[in-house]
Amino acid sequence: MSVEHDPLVEARKQLKQSIEILGLGDEIYQVLAVPDRVLQVKIPLKMDDGSVKVFIGWRSQHNGALGPYKGGVRYHPDVTMNEVIALSMWMTWKNSLAGLPYGGGKGGIRVDPHRLSKSELERLSRAYFEAISDIVGVDQDIPAPDVYTDPQVMTWYFDQFSRVKRGQYFGVVTGKPLEVGGLYTRIIATGYGTAIAAREVAKKLFGSVEGRTVAVQGYGNAGYYAAKFLHEMGAIIVAVSDSRGGIYNSKGLNPDEVKAIKNKTGTVLNYPAEKKITNEELLELDVDILVPAAIENVITEENADRIKAKAVVEAANGPTTPEAEEILTKAGIVVVPDILANAGGVIMSHIEWVNNRMGGWITEEEAQRRLEYKMVTNFNKVWDYWESKLDKEKYNMRAAAYAIAVDRVVAAMRLRGWI
Ligand code: NAD
Repeated sequence: MSVEHDPLVEARKQLKQSIEILGLGDEIYQVLAVPDRVLQVKIPLKMDDGSVKVFIGWRSQHNGALGPYKGGVRYHPDVTMNEVIALSMWMTWKNSLAGLPYGGGKGGIRVDPHRLSKSELERLSRAYFEAISDIVGVDQDIPAPDVYTDPQVMTWYFDQFSRVKRGQYFGVVTGKPLEVGGLYTRIIATGYGTAIAAREVAKKLFGSVEGRTVAVQGYGNAGYYAAKFLHEMGAIIVAVSDSRGGIYNSKGLNPDEVKAIKNKTGTVLNYPAEKKITNEELLELDVDILVPAAIENVITEENADRIKAKAVVEAANGPTTPEAEEILTKAGIVVVPDILANAGGVIMSHIEWVNNRMGGWITEEEAQRRLEYKMVTNFNKVWDYWESKLDKEKYNMRAAAYAIAVDRVVAAMRLRGWI
């Protein structure tokens, strides 16, 4: 891995900027640049054909000043230890910004899960969780789904942990199926949260989201629910896409009808729209709000000066490169950063965890209402900080979000006597 593509280098750069904005010393940077703990585990897996393959996994716990570590586990053939560490640092900031009582954690196994049978995947998942069981726990570290891990994997984790520790530890992971302590609202949470972030930025820029045009790149969990709820809020969803391409209707699309077509035929392209467009064209549409909800690094130095949206609301993680963001900031385009715009998932995970600890008490309506309240509060906290404390010409909304997040962690470390 080259240094330029090391996400840990990027994460440390962002930390350094926040330290400068907050006027903190290098000492604090040194404390936060390195995770509290990284556990590497070896998982020898007996395959269905009787052979044995060895997989490597990690759990990184970046900072626990605010509470138990929290963050997902990804299964991917390219996962590296530095990537897991960087992601755990980003989780520290996301959880801190969201006002949750959590530190940041992240896990990963270097594996292509699509090449495993279901029983191999189950054995791998159970072995990984058992191997990290000494450092995870309801009050220690609470994993969740991430790339290529899902509610079934979370159930294997929870069950294995409960077997090893001889109890019923529902709160040791979040993102579980409904039958074992999950919440339906976890499924809609990220997209719903993104829709609220888009609604709030629209209020600031245009007075209301009603009648405003929106393009959504990516029509999976985050993209579909963002489109659905923005449509319900009165926005006009003029374009959506998936990995095969996009569709455009000047008068607006019905997100549920598009989803039904995608479910039936595998792509949004079969929806009878005014015209088909490419993913590149979607990003450059003349809309009020652009929601990248697919993959990272889609708005780059190369296309940033052709982006016409007034606001970019990041449902995906890292869709805008730092170079592109500079160009957008200069052009007066507001980027609502991922750690704010897609925090709905982890906010709902917190509600699930609280609910598990209370023995299953909250209603879905109450859970959704709490998510909305948190998203609105957090959005305004960042917007107000950006307006009142930073030079808006020099710093973007992401810098404001990071500064708030780092500040809260540093305050907790001071109070606890760590620094
Ligand atoms: P998903 O797999 O459900 O959906 C991804 C969608 O993106 C699919 O429609 C796919 O066709 C499309 N896509 C893939 N490659 C594409 C490309 N090159 N161009 C255009 N579209 C492409 O995934 P998701 O859970 O919706 O996650 C999407 C993004 O949101 C990711 O960056 C993820 O990290 C982020 N995110 C998701 C959650 C969550 O709770 N789901 C939480 C936080 C962040």
